[in-house]
Amino acid sequence: MTDLKDNFFVKFWGVRGSIPCPGSSTIKYGGNTSCLEIGIADTTLIFDAGTGLCQLGQALSKNNNLNLNLFLTHFHYDHIWGWPFFEPALRKTTKINIYAAASDMRLPPEKVLMKSLENKKTPVNLDTMKAELNFSEFIVGKSITLTEKINILTTELSHPDKAVGYRIQYNGKSICYLTDHEHNNKTIYNKLVEFVSNADIVIYDATYTNEEYAERMGWGHSTWEEGVRLCDDACAKTYVAFHHDPSHDDKFMDNVSKKLKRIRKNSLVAKEGLILKL
Ligand SMILES: [Zn+2]
Ligand SMILES: [Zn+2]
Repeated sequence: MTDLKDNFFVKFWGVRGSIPCPGSSTIKYGGNTSCLEIGIADTTLIFDAGTGLCQLGQALSKNNNLNLNLFLTHFHYDHIWGWPFFEPALRKTTKINIYAAASDMRLPPEKVLMKSLENKKTPVNLDTMKAELNFSEFIVGKSITLTEKINILTTELSHPDKAVGYRIQYNGKSICYLTDHEHNNKTIYNKLVEFVSNADIVIYDATYTNEEYAERMGWGHSTWEEGVRLCDDACAKTYVAFHHDPSHDDKFMDNVSKKLKRIRKNSLVAKEGLILKL
């Protein structure tokens, strides 16, 4: 039997960028936007609140007295649009600790998230969201000690309006989550190689192919081929291509997956429902 303290996994609840793309042509990889669940011992961490958060909320709702930790990379819609529809947040018995980067360029995180509930923008409003919400802002580059044994490092990514990259460390193992990042800045690239160094799992913004990228420079996203380069340079173990373009259907993604595995053995394309254990 596995001891609970050995529990360390990541589950993908939303793997898309930009907008959700449900339908028969995306059934295999999924159509929800960014949301990861990371389970460590008896602690639940959630990364990003894209539309994948809705299904995660339904799964979590089976439990009472939830104590959750939500980390946001940035505030583009595809990373927060599940928030008003997150069922556990409606319950008085739920506690959610929400972490986001501090920035003097924009509103504090609580204002941004709560604004999405104001002025009848959604059927949920500030009165119906009854959970205890605790907001924490951090300086990018500093680490967060979540528990004695769970340490989360943060780093700057290259993205319009900025985004944060995370490295979650526990028991000598690590998962890096680097989404909404463009590989166009050499200084940031070199810092990332160090940040990702020897990680067990690297989840990376692979929105485009190198061929497509030529037409989309400056849009704030990277390619699956660049993910290979980063993981090789950083001697990372498993590479997971993530934040798929909504126009890439299952056939397209199967093709990316085939090419990716040919180039780098320990690689895979993220899909909804995928669980990786460390
Ligand atoms: Zn995004
Ligand atoms: Zn973004």
